[in-house]
Amino acid sequence: MLTLSAMKTPSQKTWNALALTTFFAFCLSISSANAAHDNGKIQMAITVDDLPDHAELPRGWSFNRIKDGFISAFEKHNIKGVYGFVNSAVIKNDQPELIHILEDWRAAGHKLGNHTFSHPDYATTTFEDYTKNILDNEEILGKLAPPSEYKFFRFPFLSEGNTLEKFNSLRDFLHAHQYTVAPITTDFQDWRWNDVFPKCTLHGTRSELQWLKDQYLARAKEDISRAESDMTFRFNRPVKHVLLMHFGAFDAMMIDQLLSQYEQMGIEFISLEDALTDPIYRDDGPPALPGTLRSLSERELQKDPTLTDTPLDQKTDQEEKDEDLKFQKMCKGGLRSIFRR
Ligand SMILES: [Zn+2]
Repeated sequence: MLTLSAMKTPSQKTWNALALTTFFAFCLSISSANAAHDNGKIQMAITVDDLPDHAELPRGWSFNRIKDGFISAFEKHNIKGVYGFVNSAVIKNDQPELIHILEDWRAAGHKLGNHTFSHPDYATTTFEDYTKNILDNEEILGKLAPPSEYKFFRFPFLSEGNTLEKFNSLRDFLHAHQYTVAPITTDFQDWRWNDVFPKCTLHGTRSELQWLKDQYLARAKEDISRAESDMTFRFNRPVKHVLLMHFGAFDAMMIDQLLSQYEQMGIEFISLEDALTDPIYRDDGPPALPGTLRSLSERELQKDPTLTDTPLDQKTDQEEKDEDLKFQKMCKGGLRSIFRR
């Protein structure tokens, strides 16, 4: 459900001056807020997008197995109330039995939010079609959870539109429908691993699989470190983070190790509701610039070009292309494949 083309961000220099002024006013207004955490730990809410079907299933996997992987890891690490953001089109149109994934998610003490009915990109969808898509998702969500729970909204592709007018119209729409937007601060692009995993279960070698696991943990660690550094620098205090993950097989396989790694880093898991009490998520803050925005930290980066030289900066387009290429070359098959039967 994710494509790289949807992740790109056009620059809009003419809006920077206005946004910059607003940004500094915004920073001043929240710099006196209480520190997000007094115990020295990084606080982070986990969120999981694209329930109940995210990517192609690898051999031997089912959506049930993915769901069980997440739920048992959350239980082991004593994490409750994790938001799963739902696209219900697959349930309504193709596989009604997948509603059990959502029921089990809730039965295990986790929550469901709205991620639109069929995962459109707001940058390439009209306001009318997009808002209808949001409301269409409420039919199934409404059968499973109260509005007070499911009225948290995550933009597919983290795409908040391609014009300020569309952005503002949608913000008004979401307000009118009592939705709270759930932005993120850390995104290590876990979906890349979910995308390549099916191929690797067929043609991968042991060393390729190990490389994928090592890289997955390394990138997750690097990204929260970058996010913590970026956001602390911007707001002059620690902030409450929100992690983006996806409902995929590789994630389900790695989630236990991933959570252990976060714990070893001194990260404390908090609820999404708690994270969103941090004033950085206040939506009366500065408007987003037009474009396809990937995360709150990227949005801040765009508002203040002087901050782009921070040590742990976003990757360049070339680095992204190189990484894409690396993943495309993975698990091409051969005699060494340990998975081929
Ligand atoms: Zn999504």
